[in-house]
Amino acid sequence: MSNLFDRLVAKTPDLTAKAIENLDGTITTYGDLFVLAGRMAQVLVAHGVKPGDRVAAQVEKSVPALVLYLATLRAGAVYLPLNTAYTLAELDYFIGDAEPSLIVCDPSSDKGIAELAAKVGAKVLTIDPKGQGTLVALAQNEPADFKTVARAGDDLAAILYTSGTTGRSKGAMLTHDNLHSNATTLIDYWRFTKSDILIHALPIYHTHGLFVATNVTFFSGASMIFLPKFDPDKITELMARATCLMGVPTFYVRLLQHAGLTQSAVKNMRLFVSGSAPLLSDTHREWSAKTGHAILERYGMTETNMNTSNPYDGDRVPGAVGFPLPGVSVRIADPDTGAFLGTDEIGMIEVKGPNVFKGYWRMPEKTEAEFRSDGFFITGDLGKIDARGYVHIVGRGKDLIITGGFNVYPKEIESEIDAMPGVFESAVIGVPHKDFGEGVTAVVVRTNKDAIDEKTIMGALQDRLAKFKQPKKIIFVDDLPRNTMGKVQKNVLRDQYSALYSVQ
Ligand code: AMP
Repeated sequence: MSNLFDRLVAKTPDLTAKAIENLDGTITTYGDLFVLAGRMAQVLVAHGVKPGDRVAAQVEKSVPALVLYLATLRAGAVYLPLNTAYTLAELDYFIGDAEPSLIVCDPSSDKGIAELAAKVGAKVLTIDPKGQGTLVALAQNEPADFKTVARAGDDLAAILYTSGTTGRSKGAMLTHDNLHSNATTLIDYWRFTKSDILIHALPIYHTHGLFVATNVTFFSGASMIFLPKFDPDKITELMARATCLMGVPTFYVRLLQHAGLTQSAVKNMRLFVSGSAPLLSDTHREWSAKTGHAILERYGMTETNMNTSNPYDGDRVPGAVGFPLPGVSVRIADPDTGAFLGTDEIGMIEVKGPNVFKGYWRMPEKTEAEFRSDGFFITGDLGKIDARGYVHIVGRGKDLIITGGFNVYPKEIESEIDAMPGVFESAVIGVPHKDFGEGVTAVVVRTNKDAIDEKTIMGALQDRLAKFKQPKKIIFVDDLPRNTMGKVQKNVLRDQYSALYSVQ
């Protein structure tokens, strides 16, 4: 019994238990979820979906949209969620690459998508933001007793495309075993039980909201309060009866600015998890001071699920992503030679474990290039492991700055600047420079316009950083560009300031 859905059913003794609560008060029990997934699976099969086929979904967050993930598992097919922000031009690539046999989209976009679907012979059904649409209407008339298609643990459960900020977006192939092992590991590590109530405010097309939040909730028999999107008013209100929040760092930054975030508002909460982008140490400290809770930061990626986590008991260290999860091996290697590095030495983070994906969809060369011969996946993240065993991330490999032949890790400079009074946050990038190759450049957001100036920042860095690490210029901005998961888009900054040092 390796199909993730069968394993979920086997783990769920009480079908009457609450699985999802909507903001309007409607409740979906585990039994409801399984029945609806059965009815939907019948529709998928009737529309030609065979085991191993891809079912693509570009739909707003709703319970039926989430049930589509379970229905796809039941049909033995491969779930392919797509960011709701993708344009038709972008979808053309994903649909052409994945060749789904069915695409589920919002009714408002079905005309454009129908043309793309026709190119690959896919059928099109719809789910709207209210959870209505042709797929849901058809499912209502279907019998619920669908026999879940047997799958091996190594068969694909999902393909999630990476964000593709460098080159083509790649489809990460995740197996039933990958998803199952990570969910059960996280449940133990974070002590999830059926009494937990998760505030679910993340999108469900990304690994964080779809797998971490949903699978951890369902496999522990807990429940979640389903928010269509991040809403600080609602979240501060819901915390009185919830136990856990999973968020990206921007959630925490914005909640800290909310008057409703008080010790008494969080007194029922037991766990705040952050990931998908670096959490500023200042945010971590402010959160502890204000709420009495240390945010638990973890590290993962689409390709690997979660790799490391700060401990449940013990020090949750600001700026660190914690220890390798049980069963996951993490090592640091020289990016060029592959030689293993020691304590506190910065290099490429490599990981191996049952959580790590099977490879990139239809890209065997790319897959081979990103795995070492002993099975470790080369994450593309640079980091180190300290003497206590905590993993620290210093940035993506592609964000490394090489200036005058020296390597500069942006995080080191960002940490110095972020610690200055008057600085809210910063992003350090390399910009083409005719003498140095790349010039270290700091893009800084101040707490207010007069809080600090370039001269003060430069002056403060003089004695703190070697000359080659000091920024050649400081640029002040109101906000850093971020994607939907809260990641700073350094590629956008690099493009924007590419002519700063006027390279011919
Ligand atoms: P994604 O595939 O969209 O989940 O992005 C994965 C990438 O996000 C990782 O390779 C890291 O670069 C980054 N990331 C995830 N969690 C963290 C974290 N806690 N701290 C810093 N970066 C993170």
